Amino acid sequence: MQGEIPLAQELLRSLPAVHEVLKSPLLAEAVSRDRMKAKDCVRQVLERWRERILKENLKPPQVEILAAEAAELFSCLERPSLRRVINATGVVLHTNLGRALLSLPALEAIQECASHYTNLELDLNTGERGSRYTHVVDLLREITGAEAALVVNNNAAAVFLCLAALAAGKETIVSRGELVEIGGSFRVPEVMMQSGTRLVEVGTTNKTYLADYERAISPETALILKVHPSNYRILGFTHQVSTRELVSLGRKYNIPVMEDLGSGSFVDLSLYGLHGEPTVQEEVAAGVDLLTFSGDKLLGGPQAGIIVGREALIRVIAKHPLNRALRIDKLTLAALEATLRAYRDPQRAREEIPTLRLLTLPQEELERRAQKLYRLLKRSELPGVEIKLVQVVSQAGGGSLPLAELPSWGIAIRPLGLNAVELAARLRQGEPPVLTRIQDEAILLDLRTVLPGEEVDIVRALARALA
Ligand SMILES: *Cc1c(COP(=O)(O)O)cnc(C)c1O
Repeated sequence: MQGEIPLAQELLRSLPAVHEVLKSPLLAEAVSRDRMKAKDCVRQVLERWRERILKENLKPPQVEILAAEAAELFSCLERPSLRRVINATGVVLHTNLGRALLSLPALEAIQECASHYTNLELDLNTGERGSRYTHVVDLLREITGAEAALVVNNNAAAVFLCLAALAAGKETIVSRGELVEIGGSFRVPEVMMQSGTRLVEVGTTNKTYLADYERAISPETALILKVHPSNYRILGFTHQVSTRELVSLGRKYNIPVMEDLGSGSFVDLSLYGLHGEPTVQEEVAAGVDLLTFSGDKLLGGPQAGIIVGREALIRVIAKHPLNRALRIDKLTLAALEATLRAYRDPQRAREEIPTLRLLTLPQEELERRAQKLYRLLKRSELPGVEIKLVQVVSQAGGGSLPLAELPSWGIAIRPLGLNAVELAARLRQGEPPVLTRIQDEAILLDLRTVLPGEEVDIVRALARALA
């Protein structure tokens, strides 16, 4: 039929007015919270529709649709930018998702110290000015067996500070096989350059011998550095110099040996089938003069850089002016102290610290939780998907245990009318956002990193994403 196409202008006239949309029950809550802001959201929604109508000659939507869009916009504006997400990736220490979850005692310590005054830098015995580091130094010495300790903002800062304090203007020897990039563009050689030390690379990518280090020693050598290859392994035709060999070389020439351990674990994870991460205690016992590691990787604490080692070296490092610029804040210290306390008893640490608990979750429990989620999903009769209970492999993440295979249980969801990438994107953009992996045209939900109680949120998120 040859009807007249209504002019866009005419269509625009039938678009409801702001006050009409604002009256919708869908906006009642928003209006009671902040009327001006709710009104502003309605205006923005109407403006978007005006543009679409002019461009596409669309019929204006009903009031309820406009109100729903405005309510959605209102809640988007109200939500914090940094917020909780559901980690269904199975990567326990996911740097993009905030790495380690804190233990309950660590959370309580933050709450207590954030809402009250504290003795952060006050010696309560003498009434004189104290040091913020005292709160964790004794614990670190007790747990690691090191003479002294210092904590800073993160491990990158720890490495940087140690090099700046001990080797600026001099040479630092490092193996070519250990010139690591950690991610987020943290490259060992670049940090070293910034600290003012001169990098002396020895050996080759796959093989470095003690003799390579020894040949490179000169009157300019300030430090021998060993870097733990956190997120990769060189396999096959290889040779690395052991910590003990490096330590004896350092002793022979009176040059301190420093190790950037990256993750730094206090418990021997090989007891749980996770091989390849030396413990901090082992490295201290091997005689390393200075050791740095992260607070929020395998340790399972807050973001921090921990330095342990010889008293004389730590004293020099602590006095360096950069230490003030890299210093640790009081809430981090509170959480770190609470986390370290758990390590006085390894069994308690394993039960209390979420990272260790997640890494060592028993298979039966993972399977049981996957079955529970599977039943919930089946019962909710999601449209257009194929759902399977599957065995999956989780990862430690955080640049630790790169080769460790952590067998786990999960759910594979294959959308029929949609591609998996699109479904994953919808889940990521939902509220709460759900982060998944994609494998063989399906999204994978690994139960290892899904916290108890989040199963219901996942079912709801999927129902919305598929609606
Ligand atoms: C992770 C890592 C770093 C950086 O630690 P942050 O705590 O993230 O600053 C440095 N070196 C190695 C070997 C690492 O694995």
